[in-house]
Amino acid sequence: MQIGSNVNLFNYTKEQKIKNAIAAKVDGKIVDLNYTLQKDSDVEFIDINSKEGLEILRHSAAHIMAQAIEQLFEGAKFAIGPAIENGFYYDVDVGRTITPDDLKLIEAQMKKIVASNYPFKRIELSKQEALQLFKNKHDEYKVEIIESINDENVSLYQQGNFIDFCRGPHIPSTGYLKYFKLLSVASAYFRGDESRPSMQRIYGTAFATKEDLDNYLNFLEEVKKRDHRKLGKELDLFSINDEVGAGFVIWHPKGAMLREIIEAFEKKEHIKRGYEFVRGPELLKTQLWKISGHYDNYRENMYFTEIENVSFGIKPMNCLGHIQVYKSRLRSYKELPKRFFELGVVHRHEKSGVLHGLLRVREFTQDDAHIFCTKEQLNDEIIGVLDFVQYAMGIFGFEYEMEISTRPEKSIGTDEDWENATNALINALENTKRPYQINEGDGAFYGPKIDVKLKDAIGRKWQCATIQCDFTLPERFNLDYIDKDGLPKRPVMVHRVILGSIERFIAVLIENYSGDFPLWLSPIQARVIPVSEKFEDYANLVYENLRKSDIRVDIEKRNETIGKKIRFAELEKIPYVLIVGQKEYDSQGVAVRKRKIGDLGLCSINEFIEKAKIESGGVL
Ligand SMILES: [Zn+2]
Ligand SMILES: [Zn+2]
Repeated sequence: MQIGSNVNLFNYTKEQKIKNAIAAKVDGKIVDLNYTLQKDSDVEFIDINSKEGLEILRHSAAHIMAQAIEQLFEGAKFAIGPAIENGFYYDVDVGRTITPDDLKLIEAQMKKIVASNYPFKRIELSKQEALQLFKNKHDEYKVEIIESINDENVSLYQQGNFIDFCRGPHIPSTGYLKYFKLLSVASAYFRGDESRPSMQRIYGTAFATKEDLDNYLNFLEEVKKRDHRKLGKELDLFSINDEVGAGFVIWHPKGAMLREIIEAFEKKEHIKRGYEFVRGPELLKTQLWKISGHYDNYRENMYFTEIENVSFGIKPMNCLGHIQVYKSRLRSYKELPKRFFELGVVHRHEKSGVLHGLLRVREFTQDDAHIFCTKEQLNDEIIGVLDFVQYAMGIFGFEYEMEISTRPEKSIGTDEDWENATNALINALENTKRPYQINEGDGAFYGPKIDVKLKDAIGRKWQCATIQCDFTLPERFNLDYIDKDGLPKRPVMVHRVILGSIERFIAVLIENYSGDFPLWLSPIQARVIPVSEKFEDYANLVYENLRKSDIRVDIEKRNETIGKKIRFAELEKIPYVLIVGQKEYDSQGVAVRKRKIGDLGLCSINEFIEKAKIESGGVL
């Protein structure tokens, strides 16, 4: 809307009863609500519920938190305090570790500041004046930050006695912050520099309404409950320990079985879809990584070793092995497309600070394939891959979203290559009749790609499949095939994964299902429980029968009451419990108990096997 000169926007919203405005855009530039127009301007008010509005609210909450900390901890120093997705943080140095109890105190202090409703005042100073102010406060972090700014003049914001260096904008006064919560504290380094002293990063969140805050806090509770690291331990799936090394996963029997189920599914589906299995070595000469460009562009993420004075790189990707298979002999157009598949183990260097359960590891397995085809075949190949994605997501019960990333400014390959490949990807996306998003200019320099993100049970999105066209590796390795006209031509190369990293996918499965896997994915599908020692022989007989019929089964041998034995099975989230006692022995059957449902009554062993197979859907 057009508003005239000299109008104060805050007063204007009051007069015009514009609700929920917390800042404004004046001729496209964001300003505080307390801004007075210098000239007739186009004004757009920012609603507290909008993305920008929440960002301003959360960033202001960071200031208020800093104010509380300054009041509670004398001599506290501050680095940066930005809004982030769903919240905010501030890096602070109070000379000691901040505890969860401190967080409660800080939060209580923030509430007092909110109740005082201090206005946020914008102050403009020269850079020198601002520097002097923070030097007087002995806040060397702020001094360093201001020194790194090139502007002559800088802005500061003050609420109550607290003053901070900031561009703004902010909420008009502290009373605007109504629904907030401090969440956690972790150590962090100033500017991420590990050689600097460690600071404390305090995380919090703020929302426009109580309902939104409560929903978000419930969501965080749910995330905590589903944490795959916690469930992985409780369900005895895997472990990671310091003795072996951070980022390297040790798979226990049930976790390894879960992998096996997924890998068996992958193998079967790849064969069905015309892929051939190949396998490259873990180590390839560093010279080869130089040709591929990995040495120049990806070296930081690789591990190297030496054999008889020759340098080798441990593969961070499987491409080079597959290229070697392609190059192992002359290829004719008649044998294209070639689809080489490998459950390829890769190693990547991740800093210890970012390692996270199965989600960020240093060794993982990809369901990786490389398709070598002609330009004309590319379209059908991408359609085939997206069909595979759709099938796999359906089997695992995930909704998903797709995005295409197109040619960036800096890129290699001809205009024709890019157009051909981008069209092939778009055609394939259109062919799925599903919506997709286009990220213009977001592709890798060596080709366009499609990313698939699945949605889990609590609405989180996770990257799974990627389909990447590549114009560089076929060039670098001089790949070709003999075409109809007898001349060598360059094939197109597509890198693709369907589930991505198996480790990561298992983390997603655990969190999605809360460890309560459907029958076909359960590492143990049924447990036989004898009511007493007297029925152990019969329990063994049932166990053997089920095992021979490919049911994944175990047997309870602990000397406990029947009630406790059932409870153990529940804690381990085993889908079926088969109880055997006198009555079951007499009828040569089992008493079936289904997780979360309860007693299903007596049936014969074969009846149970049939039932379990039907429920598994014959996926495997
Ligand atoms: Zn600020
Ligand atoms: Zn690849």
